[in-house]
Amino acid sequence: MPDTISTAPPCSPGENRGLPSLGAEGTALLRLLDDTFEQWGVTAGARPMTMPPLLPAADLRRLDYYENFPHQAVVATAIDVDRRGEYCTDTGCFPCSSLQPAELGLPSASCYAVYLDHEGREVADDTLVTVVGWCFRKEERYEGLRRQLGFHMREIVALGSREHADAHLREFTERITAFARALDLPLRREAASDPFFDKGGSKALLQRLSPVKHEFLFEDLAIASVNTHRNFFGDRCSITLAGTGEPASTSCVAFGLERWLSALTRRYGSWAAATDAVHAANDRLTPVGPVV
Ligand code: ATP
Ligand code: ZN
Ligand code: MG
Repeated sequence: MPDTISTAPPCSPGENRGLPSLGAEGTALLRLLDDTFEQWGVTAGARPMTMPPLLPAADLRRLDYYENFPHQAVVATAIDVDRRGEYCTDTGCFPCSSLQPAELGLPSASCYAVYLDHEGREVADDTLVTVVGWCFRKEERYEGLRRQLGFHMREIVALGSREHADAHLREFTERITAFARALDLPLRREAASDPFFDKGGSKALLQRLSPVKHEFLFEDLAIASVNTHRNFFGDRCSITLAGTGEPASTSCVAFGLERWLSALTRRYGSWAAATDAVHAANDRLTPVGPVV
């Protein structure tokens, strides 16, 4: 087994803007990892779904996204065709004055769309859904496959009883730990808090007092997190627990796929060795192999 090495795989022109691309080997490994995590979800009973790439900003606002994370938010809109000439060739930007009001938000996490999709519905106490999506965050700086403006997040989301939401995180904590062991990838599990804009605010304080988020870190970087939301999304989206009329509890397990690529290539030294290691870990954990 090679020691951890410091050479990152070569990246692409968009890298400095947080928009790297992947070649054939990176693409194959991203798919293999995503299939692996999706299959964990499906095996646990999750329904695979596909969510829209943009969400109404008004909906994200209802989920407090722009209050808690305005510094990360990215919005999208169309051009005002009557003022299209205001495009600035120096900066390469459309000024706000040549744009229509921004009514769409780019999601920062895959699970928001799941709660919005379940709006106004009753759920069984053991509901699981799995989705993968492009997520977008304005970060203070970007770095290769470690910190991007746009990246893939696979999530396995639990909706239902409080016990189900809690058990989901316990089960996937074990699953991630076993996978890391089979991969010989040293991971640290740490309590974490979300990067609230208002770090001294009541929400941030509450999270520090009672951790609702744990991260799995390779070296200094979180490659996965498990998060509990109690009945926050159930309440805001009127998702009720069947037979009770009460807001459902939710929790989610999130995998930043490019960060896994970064960690595995750092650990194994090449795309090929990293890919072999994932296949071998899958074979070790599920004797018949994953459905890929
Ligand atoms: P960090 O503290 O490193 O910024 P985070 O707490 O913001 O991470 P989460 O909100 O838990 O991350 O997001 C779930 C997962 O998505 C992370 O564990 C990570 O794997 C991935 N992720 C988060 N932000 C980025 C980013 N800018 N680029 C690539 N992957 C990311
Ligand atoms: Zn989530
Ligand atoms: Mg962050």
